[in-house]
Amino acid sequence: MKTITLREGKERSLHRRHPWVFQGSIAKGGGDAGETVRVQSHDGQFLAWGSFSPTSQIRVRAWSFDEAERIDAAFFERRIAQAVALRPRLAIASDAMRLIHGEADGLPGLVVDRYAHLLSAQFLSVGVERWRDVIADALLQATGCHHIYERSDVGVRELEGLPQRTGWLRHPEGDPLVTELAIREHDLRLSLDVAEGHKTGYYLDQRDNRKLFADLVRQLGAKRVLNCYSYTGGFSVAALAGGATEVISVDSSGPALARANAHVALNGFDASLHTTLDADVNATLRRFITEGQQFDAIVLDPPKFAPTAAHAERAARAYKDINRLAFRLLSPGAALLTFSCSGGISADLFHKIVAGAGLDAGVDGYIVKRLEASPDHPTTVTFPEGEYLKGLVILRR
Ligand code: SAH
Repeated sequence: MKTITLREGKERSLHRRHPWVFQGSIAKGGGDAGETVRVQSHDGQFLAWGSFSPTSQIRVRAWSFDEAERIDAAFFERRIAQAVALRPRLAIASDAMRLIHGEADGLPGLVVDRYAHLLSAQFLSVGVERWRDVIADALLQATGCHHIYERSDVGVRELEGLPQRTGWLRHPEGDPLVTELAIREHDLRLSLDVAEGHKTGYYLDQRDNRKLFADLVRQLGAKRVLNCYSYTGGFSVAALAGGATEVISVDSSGPALARANAHVALNGFDASLHTTLDADVNATLRRFITEGQQFDAIVLDPPKFAPTAAHAERAARAYKDINRLAFRLLSPGAALLTFSCSGGISADLFHKIVAGAGLDAGVDGYIVKRLEASPDHPTTVTFPEGEYLKGLVILRR
């Protein structure tokens, strides 16, 4: 067993059960990619078992803080069973949910979403990459599923020295290998293709916020709705379910918009109530302002502008820009649902950015709710960094 010895004072975060060891904290020791190492303090006290990553800034991701625990197949079976057992306690109104949310589920670098009968997995660190087969078998055992599709086509794998990989990881013999699926989310019917969709196929973290939006649209009697960064139109069909009569979905992905149209039909709404715009959101918002358009409700759910805190400043300007434009398009009494999924932008900072945007637009509003990811994307007490999605519901004065 290889040992990693930390510099003096660098044991503190592991004592608080924070699972990352950065390169700069290590005094000596190393290992192969994904190898299990013993992490100890400068004076030899055991701190954690972890997986070593020779190329990443995060050199070790802790598996366990219990010296007696062995990191073997049974370890992964236990962790996966525990994560799967949590989900029914979260009252998730869907047959699609996140089953494994990385660090929060004690499995750094592993993301697994369940879509009906199929699991869609991302292996994002060398640690989980090394245990990939064990993890795949444990997932099937814990869920009773027979299908796993892998979507390890994510940029962060490069930081770990790993190539991108997609395709079937497990399937029954002779299976027709269908990647297109139907799911149910609250009262909505949705579809996705795990091979073609973004991430693992769909944005499950916004599930409860889409439901909240449907209720809000109904409560306000909002008729004209603008859904920016709509992807496959989850918020758009939610708006229609809430009684909206004119919904515009804006996204730069043509296939996503085609599916948004399909979702309108799938949920029994008239196609004439929904328009798609394959366009840049920023430019579209500017055009709408020039045209003097107004909306009763607007959703802003942009992609991650700041992957890390280092990108926060430029990202803050981009967030402020779109929020300022959206504020100007709100009719009196209208609602704005605005989000950031950037880990590098705290809820506090996001609040300040949106406040600044309102000020610049000359529009005031009531912050009536603060939003976060659905509970199957948990944040743990010991790893607050896991919190990434934050949102505000604002009612224009
Ligand atoms: N709200 C969606 C998820 C949005 S993900 C849901 O509930 O499912 C972010 C989306 O922004 C992606 O679909 C991506 O295609 C789109 N996007 C990224 N940059 C864009 C841009 N500049 N203009 C328009 N859409 C963009």
